[in-house]
Order: sequence, then C-alpha cells, then structure tokens
Amino acid sequence: MTVTARAVKEIEGLTDKIQSLAKRRGFVFASSEIYGGAGSTWDFGPLGVELKNNIKRSWWRAMVQVRGDIVGLDGAILMHPKVWEASGHVENFVDPLVECRSCRHRFRIDDLPKGDALMEAWRANTLDVSGTACPNCGERKLADPRKFNLMFKTFVGPVEDTASVAWLRPETAQAVYVNFDNVQQAVRRRLPFGIAQIGKAFRNEITPGNFIFRSREFEQMEMQYFCRPNDAPRLFEEWKEERMRWHRSLGVPAERLRFREHAEDERAHYAARAVDIEFEFPFGWKELEGIHDRTDFDLRRHAEFSGKKLEYFDDLTQERFVPYIVETAVGADRTTYEVLCAAYDEEPDKDGIRTVLRLHPSLAPYKVAVLPLSKNERLSPLAREVHASLRAGFMTVYDETQAIGRRYRRQDEIGTPLCVTVDFDSLEDRAVTIRERDSMAQVRVPIAELVDRVQERLAEV
Ligand code: ATP
Repeated sequence: MTVTARAVKEIEGLTDKIQSLAKRRGFVFASSEIYGGAGSTWDFGPLGVELKNNIKRSWWRAMVQVRGDIVGLDGAILMHPKVWEASGHVENFVDPLVECRSCRHRFRIDDLPKGDALMEAWRANTLDVSGTACPNCGERKLADPRKFNLMFKTFVGPVEDTASVAWLRPETAQAVYVNFDNVQQAVRRRLPFGIAQIGKAFRNEITPGNFIFRSREFEQMEMQYFCRPNDAPRLFEEWKEERMRWHRSLGVPAERLRFREHAEDERAHYAARAVDIEFEFPFGWKELEGIHDRTDFDLRRHAEFSGKKLEYFDDLTQERFVPYIVETAVGADRTTYEVLCAAYDEEPDKDGIRTVLRLHPSLAPYKVAVLPLSKNERLSPLAREVHASLRAGFMTVYDETQAIGRRYRRQDEIGTPLCVTVDFDSLEDRAVTIRERDSMAQVRVPIAELVDRVQERLAEV
C-alpha cells in the first residue's frame, strides 16, 4: 500500500469511527433515517443536542453576555422577498454546477480535480471543462457550467405565483440589517456596537457531505459589528484574534487552527476583506468561520430597496453616516464537528483500546456520571441520593448496568469528565470516589462536600 493510500484509509477510518460513535451514542442521526435519509440533513440526538447547546451557550456568553457592546436578536426565517434582492442573493448566491452528459452526475466545479484552478478560470470567464474527466464515470463529457442558486424557494399563502415567492434564509445576517434602526431605537448604543444572532439557515448545496460539515439545513452563529468606516480595518483585525481565541477556548489545539485570507477574486460580492478560520479536519484544512469587512454594502442596499434611511447619527459630532459592518459568521453544526474531531482520542490500555472524547468540561453533554459499584439493593438508595444531590447543579447521568470498568469506558467515550462511584464502604464512611476521565485518577471525597468538589474540578481546566 502506498503512503498516500494508507493515509486516505486512515482518514476514512477516523471519520468512520467518529461518525459511528456519534450515531451509536446518540449525538447525531441521519434525518428521516427510516425512510432512507433526507438528503444531507441531520438530527441531533440526546447527547448531540446537549453538546450543540453548550457550544451555542459558549458563543452567546463570549459574544453577548460578557460584553457591554453587543445585543441579541432572533429574527424570523421567512422574510420579505425584496430582502434577498437587496442582499444580492437572488443574483449572486450561485454555485457553478457541471453535469456529466454520460452518467448524469452533478458536481460543483471546486469539487472536480484541480477545482481551485477551475474556479479561478470560471471567475475569469475562461473556464473550459472539455478536458476534465468526470470523477464518477471517467468520461470527458462534462457539460458547460450552469449557475445554480443555492436558496430554497417556497410560496407564502395558497397561490404559487411570482407574487407569493419566499426564500428560506441562506444566512441569518439579513434580519440584523433590516432591524438596524429598530434595535438602535430600542437600545440606543453608541458605535461601535454589535448585534448577535443564532438561528437556522438553509442552502440547497449541490454537493453536501462530510457528515455535518456541509448540510442543507444548519445553524449559524453570526454577529454584525457596526462601526465608523475608518475603524473597520482595526476592528477586523481585533475580531479575527477574538474569534480565534474562542475556538481555542473550546479546547481545540492551536496547531489545528489557522487563518486563510481570501484573494480578491474569491471574496463574496459584499466583502472588502475576508478571512476564514480553518480547522484541520481528518479530511483536510476546511473553513469553520468567516470574518468579513462588509463595508456599508448591506445598510446602503436595504436603504435603497426599502426607501428607509438606515443611518447612524452621532449627537456629539452632529455627523450622520452609514456605518460599516465587520461580521463574524460560524456554523454551530460545523463547530460541533470540529469539537468532536479535536476531542476524539484512542489510547492503548490493558483491555485493548480506550476511546476517549476529551471534551472541554463546559461542552461535555454530561458533567458527572453516578455509578454504584454494582447493581445492588444496598447500594442503590445511597447512589440515587448522591445523584439527586448533583442533578440540580449539573447535567448528570445514572448508570448501574454492567461491570464498573465497562461503565467507565462508556462515559469516557461520550466525554463525561467525572464519574462518581458509590461502593460498600460508602455505606459506612459516607464518602464516594471521584474518577477523572483524562488521568483516570481517583480521589475519595465525603458526600457532604461532593457538590463543591465536583464544581472545583470542572472549573479547573
Ligand atoms: P463554504 O465555503 O464552506 O460553503 P461559506 O463561505 O459559503 O462556506 P459563509 O456563508 O461565510 O460560508 O457561512 C458562515 C459559516 O456558516 C461557515 O463558515 C460555516 O461554518 C457555516 N456554513 C455555511 N454553509 C454551511 C453548510 N452548508 N452546512 C453547515 N455549515 C455551513
């Protein structure tokens, strides 16, 4: 086997392992699985919803709670159709699509071999795919590319005509722009200030895939920071660093994160500058988050299309102007995948391989598992009492089936940072054992101090 073939096999092996763990342990299921799936949409199971909620909470805390200059919004998914004309999405939110005339498979140009070069040629209007072989059947019969709009179209009301067209939003940001004046009137913030939002977005991706990396329905966490035009370049740099710090705060190693600046011809139609934060997934370096200097494009366009002024008035300097916007945009699902990949670990142990999700305690679905040493009617009442004392303060789980070693392994595999074991000595000394996921170290703790000791240990990282 060549090195490259081996590397590919290892990558496939690792992504398969992560995906199979995600399904087996209730993180992520294919949507409508019993009907064969629903085209790259995913359901988050009991553990996945905890993990994703913890990620969203961490983002909201960093972007809204601990800052005085950012407020939140929860905009509707369905918006006036003119929003998407003003935003440029009706015209520009397109991917070049090629179809093989032989096998009828369809591809995004950047998914073809030498995709980057082909994309460059497409942007320069010099693309010729006649020499490119179809990655599916190998024939050189790719048709000329067509533009394919990624927005899902639907109709509002009982009549399906052009007057009732609505789009499922492909990003959350537009609700912030159209509410700029409402928010400003309501909270009266001075520049610079931001509006943050978490919500669903929909894109009819031509080639979704890589599990939850690219799906057709996903969640975004976006923040629009309004500022004076002259301040935009400095704030752009500050947000880049701030957002990188956030990814590291999730326990993702620095060496698996990097910036990638977009070339001029690669940037979206609204952006004066664009930088991606990329993560090294098992299948390569890929975008996690975009930071964009959107200039005054959005507010100007919405002012133009709606006929309403969207300006900022500075009562100190008596200036009136259209603010610039620095945007940070990251996917909640993609971040969940990032965190799963960064946390997944295997290490040899006496029984073979120990699989551990080394999740940051703040992200772990369960913080503590309570495990009676064995399923025994003398132990159960005390174990249940211990569990009851913990569950008001922490997400906990109680497990008394199978041997204790197996149960530790089960908790390691889902990333539970602490296990609390109740044994026969506990009945006498009113103490229990705390066992740590990463070091597997065990300490004995009086039940009376347990809540405080658990709290301390979870806060240590
Ligand atoms: P990509 O190049 O991967 O399609 P993009 O540059 O179009 O992404 P943005 O429009 O900047 O992405 O969206 C911001 C973030 O939303 C992305 O960085 C990603 O985390 C997330 N995102 C975008 N599209 C998808 C998708 N189809 N599935 C899951 N997450 C997505």
